[in-house]
Amino acid sequence: MNRFSGKSVIVTGSSSGIGRATAVLFAKYGAQVTITGRDAGKLEATKKKMLKVMKNPENVCVVVANLTDSDGQDEIVQSALDAFGRIDVLVNNAGANVVDGTFNTDQSTELYHKTFQINFEAVIEMVKKTKNHLIESKGEIVNVSSVAAGPQALAPSPYYAASKAALDQYTRCVALDLILQGVRVNSVSPGVVTSGFLGAMGMSEQVQKQIEENFTSNRACIPAGVCGKPEDIAELIIFLADRKRSSYIIGQSIVADGGTSLVSGLTAQNIQRNN
Ligand code: NDP
Repeated sequence: MNRFSGKSVIVTGSSSGIGRATAVLFAKYGAQVTITGRDAGKLEATKKKMLKVMKNPENVCVVVANLTDSDGQDEIVQSALDAFGRIDVLVNNAGANVVDGTFNTDQSTELYHKTFQINFEAVIEMVKKTKNHLIESKGEIVNVSSVAAGPQALAPSPYYAASKAALDQYTRCVALDLILQGVRVNSVSPGVVTSGFLGAMGMSEQVQKQIEENFTSNRACIPAGVCGKPEDIAELIIFLADRKRSSYIIGQSIVADGGTSLVSGLTAQNIQRNN
């Protein structure tokens, strides 16, 4: 339970889904956790869950901030330092498939900018702004990418997919740079996970359920037959943030997708037939 005792962790996008589950798990393992997002109500709900599993309520720092805003990023970093005096782990989890009703090659250029701002630029800025503190603590960065990064295409959302592909290559480059200064950088690549992700795209609960049913009833979509839970990804993030357990993994993106990315167009029909 004291696996992260004395460690100060920032989890972006912790008002929902994967980030929330990660914050709760870090809290359970004794970390000092800075949670952040734009929605104060949802952050409060995360804090409540954390308080149920943690011993010291002073180990939670809540920051309501927009990560695409430079002042917001500064506030997150400064609040973590004010509360805990150090930064040991940065989890760059916040992200979204930003939508405006355009798809495929018709997606607007404005949408490209918005998508890259949250999924890529915010990560770059957070790394720059925490770097010296992480070097001091010999800390860890875990980025949250997606199997949408490829090599398979995600034709309707090219900018979301490209932003995650950019993130994967950034992870590798930064990992090689920062390991020379003692900081480990890795990332996780989830497949379909039940979270607030589709809701943030404006889908009703009914549509979300329908999509999940379509995915889970078709083994060519998810061979495991179930959608991932935020906790499945949180466990992986915790593993990569724990130097005692994953010290020799550097600059990797670990896939957790129930087998989705193993299926190719050539094999999809066979999987359905055999099922
Ligand atoms: P959720 O929508 O449940 O969570 C997204 C989080 O990001 C929320 O806490 C949200 O906070 C935060 N966020 C979004 N935009 C901003 C912003 N501008 N400023 C600050 N915070 C922001 O989705 P998930 O938990 O599923 O997503 C987490 C990560 O996992 C993302 O990077 C996503 O791309 C990735 N992923 C998700 C998959 C899935 O199937 N769910 C699959 C593959 C990858 P708030 O709304 O309070 O601002």
